[in-house]
Amino acid sequence: MSSFTVAALEAVADTIVQNKELLTSLDAAIGDADHGINMARGFEAVRVKIRAAAPGTDISGLLKLTGMTLISTVGGASGPLYGTAFMRAAAAAQGKATLDPDGITQIWSAALQGIKDRGKASRGEKTMLDAMEPAYEAFVEAVKAEKSLVESLDAACEAAKEGIEYTKTIIATKGRASYLGERSLGHQDPGATSSYLMLAALTEFCR
Ligand code: ADP
Ligand code: MG
Ligand code: MG
Repeated sequence: MSSFTVAALEAVADTIVQNKELLTSLDAAIGDADHGINMARGFEAVRVKIRAAAPGTDISGLLKLTGMTLISTVGGASGPLYGTAFMRAAAAAQGKATLDPDGITQIWSAALQGIKDRGKASRGEKTMLDAMEPAYEAFVEAVKAEKSLVESLDAACEAAKEGIEYTKTIIATKGRASYLGERSLGHQDPGATSSYLMLAALTEFCR
């Protein structure tokens, strides 16, 4: 499971690095044009750290390493937010040697709460939460309906994609984009987009 976790985190990291330009151009429209740069820097460092982690480092240990690395390398709002998400995920994963849909639900719930606690934002403020929270809810619903892991992740991805579209229709009230007021309308949120991309990478990895 630990090499599986390393490979899953690598898949997420690769996707973020591959989408560096996209995320930066989205941030250029409503922020300071660094979201892709920040995230790619962080996940490049994550890739190095998790590959170098002691063999047998458990799921929780790998998630913690990811969170600490993001906090120390990303910079910008997204670093502490995603960093906190992974740190909380690590705490929730403690003692779990394998991951089933219920375990993933617990870990995801903790990560989501971490983002909310750290950023003091809620849904509808044009942030990563507008993708992350509906995705989580769709996942929980699909698991309850006894869908498979991949089907549940697909439902989550679909909800995250809708969340991205939704961010185009609302004014930012948190983060840098909030300085723009109404001029933030019509643009999709970079953080919602990176959240979707991470989830899509994980889903493809699990398929
Ligand atoms: P910065 O804005 O400091 O340059 P980034 O560009 O890396 O940082 O990240 C911007 C993204 O962070 C936004 O698109 C938004 O999704 C997210 N974000 C900003 N503030 C918050 C917050 N308080 N809560 C949740 N997400 C936030
Ligand atoms: Mg930025
Ligand atoms: Mg910045």
